[in-house]
Order: sequence, then structure tokens, then C-alpha cells
Amino acid sequence: MLESLRRIVQQVNNAPDLEQALRIIVERVKQAVGADVCSVYLNDFEHRRHVLHATDGLRATAVGRVRLEMGRGLIGLVSERAEPINLDDAVNHPRYQRITDTGEEQYHGFLGAPIIQNRKVLGVLVLRQREKRHFGDDEVTFVVTLASQLAGAITFARTNGELARLQDDGIPQRFLPGLPASPGVALGTAVVVYPPADLNAVPDRRAENPEGEVHDFLSAVEQVAEDLDRFAVRTQSHLSAEDLALFDAWRLMLESDTLIDGTLTRIRSGNWAPGALRDTIAEHAKVFDDMDDPYLRERSSDVRDLGRCILTHLQKLTAAPIQYVPNTILVGEELSAMQIADVPRELLAGIVSTTGSGSSHVGILARGMGVPAAMAVADLPVGRVEGRELVVDGYRGRVYVAPGPTVKSEYQRLAADDAALTSELQALRHLPAETTDGYQVPLYLNTGLVSEARPLGLEESVGVGLYRTELPFIVRDTFPGEAAQMSNYRRVLELFAPRPVTIRTLDIGGDKPLPYFPMQEANPFLGWRGIRITLDQPDIFLTQIRAVLRASIGLDNLQILLPMISTVGEVDEALLLIHRAHEELLEEGYQVHLPPIGVMIEVPAAVYQCEALARRVDFLSVGTNDLTQYLLAVDRNNAHVAKLYDEFHPAVLRALLQILAGARVHGREVSVCGEMAGDPLAAFLLVGMGIHSLSMGAGSLLRVKQVIRSISRTRAREVLKVALQCEDALAVRRLLLDALEAVGLGGLVRPGK
Ligand code: PEP
Ligand code: MG
Repeated sequence: MLESLRRIVQQVNNAPDLEQALRIIVERVKQAVGADVCSVYLNDFEHRRHVLHATDGLRATAVGRVRLEMGRGLIGLVSERAEPINLDDAVNHPRYQRITDTGEEQYHGFLGAPIIQNRKVLGVLVLRQREKRHFGDDEVTFVVTLASQLAGAITFARTNGELARLQDDGIPQRFLPGLPASPGVALGTAVVVYPPADLNAVPDRRAENPEGEVHDFLSAVEQVAEDLDRFAVRTQSHLSAEDLALFDAWRLMLESDTLIDGTLTRIRSGNWAPGALRDTIAEHAKVFDDMDDPYLRERSSDVRDLGRCILTHLQKLTAAPIQYVPNTILVGEELSAMQIADVPRELLAGIVSTTGSGSSHVGILARGMGVPAAMAVADLPVGRVEGRELVVDGYRGRVYVAPGPTVKSEYQRLAADDAALTSELQALRHLPAETTDGYQVPLYLNTGLVSEARPLGLEESVGVGLYRTELPFIVRDTFPGEAAQMSNYRRVLELFAPRPVTIRTLDIGGDKPLPYFPMQEANPFLGWRGIRITLDQPDIFLTQIRAVLRASIGLDNLQILLPMISTVGEVDEALLLIHRAHEELLEEGYQVHLPPIGVMIEVPAAVYQCEALARRVDFLSVGTNDLTQYLLAVDRNNAHVAKLYDEFHPAVLRALLQILAGARVHGREVSVCGEMAGDPLAAFLLVGMGIHSLSMGAGSLLRVKQVIRSISRTRAREVLKVALQCEDALAVRRLLLDALEAVGLGGLVRPGK
């Protein structure tokens, strides 16, 4: 049974689409267990029903037609209980429901296993037997294991819209859930971006000029053929005749009727060339996947490789700049900072990603730009929404595709409320962030890309509390040299002078890889990141330090911040290098001063060594994004565990108190520069604790300022005291929501006034 399990899992994983995966499952499971019927029902949440999606044993015509109301029958029971049900005679069970259309009345034995992903039941895998039969433990385990494999395939199909296509109900009319990433409401038009040379990510698009698409496709094929010939000649002397024959096989595949005619037919039926190619390659690869011979089965990856090569050429030929329309809602499976930065700011209304979470860097960027965003909207059929109207509710992390008139007018009202709130907040621009009893908590800006033309947050903040230097490194092809870095830092320092600007040394690694500095790590967040890289590569560190020191000459508003510190040794080493760079510059005749130096407290180890760290530096800055991730062992980008990621977890609150206590011993100030600082709810806690300053994205400055100006320090301390009694994040959140509502500011964290 183990061998057939392994085989089936492999075949399911190789299946080009969900329909195939389901077909493989029902056929092979029925055969392996010796049952009379194997079927898969999938939950259609939109219409609250279980729909028969595949069967081996029941009438084929029943597929798609048998729709059982949720909460009824044995299928409903398996789904409700979220556990397998094994009955030797289903007919006698009180929940037994006779289903016509399938010929099911003749069956007695029943085994139903839920298909679960992320605690959500997506469907039910069912085995039936004509006679009475109690399925054995091994058989139950076998079916449960396969059901969990299927869950992955279903989630993937939901993401690329295939499930919606199979359910032929079009795009759901209700909202698609995701995670809130940046507050606000946006109505606009979807512009889908996708990574290059990724066939699976290619969306469907209408071919405006089918003959043009045909021409491009054929030229791309021709270019791949030329590439193959070139490779064959180049490798002739190193390869055996047998290996060289592979090139001939590829040429044959490339020029086969299945590939060429299949794609041309699809183009002429209306899809653009990349979409047509995607479907043809999937169909062609499936033929090989289904073969019993392992050698021939492997050929499916050759077909996919060829598809990728053709797509690469096709994309070069058709690389027209993306057309951003007014009120663009940027949509993608895994958006990058570059893709967001590519959209002219005045056209960008909202951001939607099917992966990630509010604390991933794309979420941070969206908040910094004040653009409503929803992440992890896994059910969004990315391939099918290009050009469609979307509503993004950044408060709740929801998306509506082609909203009906009621939803649309409600969100138009909310957007108008939001605009009114934003203009009300403008009145606070030049006012200090001061509580009603006169306690000041200066608000600083987090930034990474400063545009002089439109310097967001310049007037609303008292300086830059966190300048992330990664972005200027990410948007290039090689490491920038000292001069290039210097002019970049100089611009920021000048723009904000005489106000302080805290420049953080390079914090690459984790979810911020550099395209030209490849790293392959099993656990990037626990790996070579931040200060660990720059101390191992002192040349990178020294170049950056020399650039920031030189950039600050005559301005003297620079502060340096060291990321990802986990030992005092790292601080000592970094200080040594900073002093060395300083002395070198003095020797070279530059009038440079040593700036205040701080460390980020974002690793639990640093929390417990705050006192020793504070003794060595001038200030501490808490990176609550990473601190939360590491304290709670929750990847900040992983949508599966995003529900567990919460900065209001009691452990995070206690860590903050511990940091303050350590810093106090040496009279050092503590700021918070993680996303928690920009959450209006957190203001009560941070002010209550006595955090000295907060640093946040431009979009949050006025919101947080308004909370601080509406509460007293005494009230903040009271709220903190109660919060510290709470045993989980949810209780803290509820408490803070009530406190915010009580001062009439609930509208800052939910839509509407
Ligand atoms: C943090 O971890 O809280 C932080 C501010 O740094 P980043 O988000 O850039 O990792
Ligand atoms: Mg960090």
C-alpha cells in the first residue's frame, strides 16, 4: 500500500491541473482499496453546497450535477466533523441521504475522509462498497493521507482560478478573504503582473490581434529551435552521441503538431499567445505524466522546459511596457517591491497579492505609501481578473471582483469617509505628538525610497527613524559603490536636515535577497542575514559606513543603526569597523564626526542582553516585525500561519518591558520602528510603557498622532495595566479596540467613521 501511496502522490503532484489530479485520485484509490466507487466532493462555500467533482464508479454524467446542500447527508457530516467516518452500512445511518442521479442507492459500505487545509474543510473523499464493508485502519490512513495531498492541489487550483472555472459559476460575488496589510478602501481596475518565464503564472488575456500573436509565437518557436542548434554545436565535443540525440528529440517535440497546432488553435479561439502556450504545454505534459514507463514519464519535464524557453522568447518579443490605468489595483501572486515601484504613484489605488501577509515587506511598503492593500487573497483567480473592476478593503483584507451595485456604492461611501478622515488628519500635520497631559512621543518616519519630488511624511514627522538601505541595493545589478551610495544617503540627510536621520546598515537576507548575491538556504530567516552578512563581508560594511559618514559631512544629523544583532560580539566588531572607517576618513582629510550608534532589538537573544547592549551604544530601536516572528516562531510572510502572528501577544509586550528596563540602566532611549509603532491600537501600550519615540510608514503618522493627542499618559498606563493581565493577543486587541472607540477614534482601524 505504501508503494501505491507513493506512486499516487507523485502522479497527483505532477498533474497539470486539478481535474487531472482528481481523476488520478479517484481511479487509483478505488483500485488500491478494491472499492466499488471512489468520488470527490468539493465544498462550494459561495453557494453552501458540496459538488461532485470526480468519480470512478458512479455515472460520469453526475459530475458537476450532483450538488448536496451543506450540513446535510453523510458528506455534510464528514465535512462538519472534519474527521473520517467509516460505516459498514451507511443506509442505516440517521444522516443517510439518498441521492438520485448517481445510482448510489445500491451501496452499503462507506468511508468518507475530509480534505483539509489550514483547518478548513475543502471537500470530502468518499469510498463506497456495494456490500457491507468496514474499511480497515490501513485503508483509512491511506485515504486520509491522500485527502491531505489533494488539499494542496485544491488550494493551488483556487489560487490560479481553475476551481472557479471548474465550478462554472464564474467569479464569486461575495468577498474573497485575505489578510489586511494597509488600511483604506480602493475601487479600481485590476492590472495583473506576473514573474517572467513562469508558465503557471501567465494569466488569460484576450488576443487583440490574433494574427500578430500567431506571428510572435512562431518566431519564438523559431528562436528556440536556433538556440537548440547552437547548444548542440557547442556541446558536441563534450557529449556522447546518445546525449546529443536529446537535442533531436527536443527539436521534434518543439516542431510537433501537438505543440504548434494546439497553440495556434487556442490563439485563434481568442487567447493571447502566452495563455495559449500555457494550456498547450499543460496538455502535452499530461500525456507523458500519465505514462507507466518512468523514462517516458520524465519527458513531461522536457515539455515544460521547452514551454518555458518559448515563453521567455515570447516575452522578449512582446515586452510592451505594462499599461497602468487610472486607479490601478495591482494584482499578483507574489508581488515584489520593484513591481510596486514601477506603477506611477498617481495611478496606484490598491494592491492585492495572493500570498504574503501584512508584515511582509510588500505590506510594509504599501502602508508606507498609504495604499490600501490585502495580502494572502488565496481564492482570487489571478489569471482571470485582468481589466476587471475590483474593490480592495484594506481594513479587513478583503477583495470583491466585479462588485454588484450595492457593494460598490457602500464602498464608495466608505472611500469618501476615508478621504474625509485623511483631510481631517491633515490639520495635525504640524502639531506635536503630545498626550493630553503634556507627554511627548516624537514620531519618526520609516522609509527606504525617498523621492524629493514627493517626499512622503516629510512634514508629519520629526525625522527619519528607520532608513532601510536595502531598496537602493535591490534595484541594481551589482553592489553600489561608495560614491553612488553616498549621493543616495546625502539626499535623504539633506532633505530632512537638521532633523535626525537614522540609517540602518544593510539588512539583506531573509525575505530580502539581492538578485546579484545569490544565497540558497533552507531557513533564510534563521540564516545569513543583516549584520551577519556584513560582518562576514567587511568590505560591504566598510563601504557603506564610509558612504554614510561622508554623506553626513556638514549636516551632522546622521545616526547609524545595526540590524539583527544577537550577540554583544557583533556590536563590538561593528563598532570597531565603524571607528576604523571614521579614522580612515579623517586621515584622508574628511571632516567627519562619529554619529550616535544604535542597535535593533529584534532577536529574542538581544532582549535578554539589552543591558549589555545598551552599555555599548547610544540608543536602542525595537524591530517588532522580526521580534514577533522570532518570539512566536511564526514566519512573517507565511499566510498559513499569519493568524498566529500578532504583536499584541503577551510575550511581545513583556519583551518590550524587558528592553526598556535594560536600556534604563544605562539611561538609553528606546524607540519602536517595527510595524507595531504605526498601529493606532498599539499607541496606548507604547505610550503607557514609556517608549521614547515611534517610527513608522508615512501612511500611519497622522493616525497615530491623532491617538496620542486624544489620550492621556495616565489613561495609557491604565490600559497597559489591564493589557498585561490578558493571557492572549485577542484579549489585548479587544481591550485596545474598546479604548480606541471610547475616545471616538474607532474609524482609524475599521472602515467608516
Ligand atoms: C523589524 O523587524 O521590525 C524591522 C523594522 O525591520 P524589517 O521589517 O526591515 O526587517
Ligand atoms: Mg527586521
